[in-house]
Amino acid sequence: MKQIIGHLALLGGLLFLVNCSKASIEPTSDAMSSVSSDPWGQTSDGRAVSLHTLKNSSGLTAKITDFGALLVELHVPDREGLFEDIVLGFGQLEPYFENPAYFGCTTGRVANRIAGGKFSLNGQAYQLATNLDGKHHLHGGNIGLDKRLWDGSTNIVDGIPSATFTYISPDGEEGYPGNLSIQVTYLLTEDNQLRIEYRATSDRSTPVNLTNHSYFNLAGTDEGTILNHELLLMANSYTEIDNDLIPTGKIGTVEKTPLDFRDSTPIGDRIHQLPPQPEFRNPGGYDHNMVLNDYTGALSLAARVYEPSSGRIMEVFTTEPAMQLYTGNFLDGTIIGKNGVAYEKHFGLCIETQHYPDSVNQPDFPSTILDPDEIYATTTTFKFSTD
Ligand code: BGC
Repeated sequence: MKQIIGHLALLGGLLFLVNCSKASIEPTSDAMSSVSSDPWGQTSDGRAVSLHTLKNSSGLTAKITDFGALLVELHVPDREGLFEDIVLGFGQLEPYFENPAYFGCTTGRVANRIAGGKFSLNGQAYQLATNLDGKHHLHGGNIGLDKRLWDGSTNIVDGIPSATFTYISPDGEEGYPGNLSIQVTYLLTEDNQLRIEYRATSDRSTPVNLTNHSYFNLAGTDEGTILNHELLLMANSYTEIDNDLIPTGKIGTVEKTPLDFRDSTPIGDRIHQLPPQPEFRNPGGYDHNMVLNDYTGALSLAARVYEPSSGRIMEVFTTEPAMQLYTGNFLDGTIIGKNGVAYEKHFGLCIETQHYPDSVNQPDFPSTILDPDEIYATTTTFKFSTD
């Protein structure tokens, strides 16, 4: 972790780096980009929730709610210039209260798995919520960041619309030590990037590993599976896993495995080589942590996704050392999403940029520990274009 935050650590007590105005009720604009905020219902305990809309001057539009700091809609043009929503999710707030598939959300405090929900830090043992089959910790626990109401605001600086969300996770929440102040900012740039910046500080040492859990379907969310999407990954290796998808600590090469996306390859070409294993409650498909090449902490290309029928291309750049490649394996038609579509297996593709799973228990993995004199700072950007 120290490598990532490097020079930022000196900024010490400065909690948040971006200065944002409170949510504007009326749309404001600068050139043709705009931000607006609308009421979007209430939490079950009666707190008001908003939906914030960001639009850049070419029409790229993102809708983000302060419930879970989550991406609800992302409208991106195809090769004919037709805009389509390309992220799975719901048309209204209430289904997000459960959201078992984690559509669109900010995931943490620690995304992905922690074995047994246990770790030790500075001589103290911690037990986190074991919300994954009662055995392991997944995506921050029973009520992770995805199910919290964040404080949202919007802004436009130099024509770039943004929405910033802050949340203070109290000491002990879901078992984690330290009061953690978190800020997530979504920006829409003029060159069609959805950029997500994560910042956090803590008053005690604690693990942090934040990501976004959007399910993309570049053909549009009504268009079936993502098996025709062609995927390029800047990953020569991956973290080997056991039957519970917990890392063994070994780093494996992708060579001669279905995880080899070093040349752009349709996702469906080799997915059958990862068949269901009902005995381990594994529906089959990609659910692997890919280790990105040449990690330095600088923003670097991690993945490129191409959907041939629409011509849409998504490039993912990140400052993170890894990403979870997840092909929506647990979707089974029981979740009814936007436009009444029953989301079936492989209807969405997640590229969850992050540190390696279970890093707190693997001393050889890059550290996820944030110390009180440091600022957690990571960025991931999704850049859209067409062929
Ligand atoms: C995990 C999957 C999990 C999914 C939840 C992914 O990040 O790797 O195993 O089922 O999130 O929707």
